[in-house]
Amino acid sequence: MDGRADVLVVGGGIVGLATARELLAQRPNTRVVLLDKEPGVGRHQTGHNSGVIHSGVYYRPGSLKATLCVRGRNLLLDYVVRNQIPHRLCGKVIVANGAEEGARLDELSRRAQANGVPNTRSLDSQELRVLEPAVRGERALHVPGTGIVDYRAVADQLAKDLVAAGADLRTGTEVTGIRAVPDGVEVATNQGTLPARYLVNAAGLQADRIALMAGLDPGVRILPFRGEYYLLRPERRDLFRGLVYPVPDPAMPFLGVHFTLTIHGEVEAGPNAILAFAREGYRKSDVRVGDLLESVFYPGFLRMVNRYWSSAVHETNRSFRRAVFLRDLQALAPSLVAADIAPGGSGVRAQAVFPDGRMADDFLLLHSPRALHIINTPSPAATASLAIAERLVDEIPRDPSA
Ligand SMILES: Cc1cc2nc3c(=O)[nH]c(=O)nc-3n(C[C@H](O)[C@H](O)[C@H](O)COP(=O)(O)OP(=O)(O)OC[C@H]3O[C@@H](n4cnc5c(N)ncnc54)[C@H](O)[C@@H]3O)c2cc1C
Repeated sequence: MDGRADVLVVGGGIVGLATARELLAQRPNTRVVLLDKEPGVGRHQTGHNSGVIHSGVYYRPGSLKATLCVRGRNLLLDYVVRNQIPHRLCGKVIVANGAEEGARLDELSRRAQANGVPNTRSLDSQELRVLEPAVRGERALHVPGTGIVDYRAVADQLAKDLVAAGADLRTGTEVTGIRAVPDGVEVATNQGTLPARYLVNAAGLQADRIALMAGLDPGVRILPFRGEYYLLRPERRDLFRGLVYPVPDPAMPFLGVHFTLTIHGEVEAGPNAILAFAREGYRKSDVRVGDLLESVFYPGFLRMVNRYWSSAVHETNRSFRRAVFLRDLQALAPSLVAADIAPGGSGVRAQAVFPDGRMADDFLLLHSPRALHIINTPSPAATASLAIAERLVDEIPRDPSA
């Protein structure tokens, strides 16, 4: 494409790709450029996650997470069926033990109702045993509409759609600066400067930095939380029929370590949630001094540590000690032994944190002159991506430089 883009999207993760695709579906004559710094699409959160198609049980009714997850799930199922992308609706159970977890399970059940998640059912311990013989719990919530897919495969298909619809998709192109000009923006990249009338920031783990480049203080910083997985050894892969989750801690935006089947036939246990020393740090040993200093000197960092002190200690302990990880898994599946699990992969969540140390528990949509930013895209943004795309396109002006 020569000349100026109407809309330039930063980020070839599932959210940026879905947004560019939706824009072209609704406004086919728009000149769309999508940039990603990596050699291919879906290389960060989109390519390193649990692959769960969430149903929308967890999220506060009325929140973007709740409404966009429920709609996004339906759009996604339609999309994967139409494009013959392998997926499975295997369902899940959320398992509770003790009065406190029971009360939290009741709240999840209410949220499921309020969010319009169909066919959820409360189970007693006998009913749970019939459904999931390896799982022990006093009570559970069965969510049959939860599924699994490979989000990298979804991203690849979205990229194909985009190119077929006439978008200019450029990988290996890193945005390094953004300058406002009278009728748009000038975007500096490692491949030269690109003019555009409007910019969409879907840069995931770097989204706050892109917002700052565009002259917007987003009021949060992204802190990277690595999620580490173990894999069940192949002989134990038939232990579960569906996905098995604990009741999450309502103070945290993470779901607690759980068992997920993958569409490729493996069973993963995890992810935990541990502060990473690099925004794109997939291994414990990955440290980027700039990222680390930025995290540590952010005023919200110490306040966050204070606020979530006991969780932070437990997460660190669990990350370094397999026995602790195993013990948490055994709380769900007591027959599991140390030899059943081996270290697996990891992913890094883009979690926004406010200056007072609170972790953002919803997607944040922010505007700046000639730009729209989506900040804080951890789970369930992959499930919700096609609905997030609809929402973002609604917010992009019809005449981007007006
Ligand atoms: C461990 C883990 C488990 C998860 N499990 C689930 C799950 O089961 N179900 C679910 O729905 N969600 C899950 N999620 C969340 C889900 O993966 C994300 O919500 C989703 O992938 C977010 O997509 P995105 O496009 O916003 O971000 P990303 O996929 O991170 O994409 C952002 C893109 O921006 C690019 N970029 C960044 N900076 C620049 C720059 N300067 N110039 C050019 N390009 C740039 C990056 O290269 C990247 O490709 C999980 C996440 C993690 C980490």
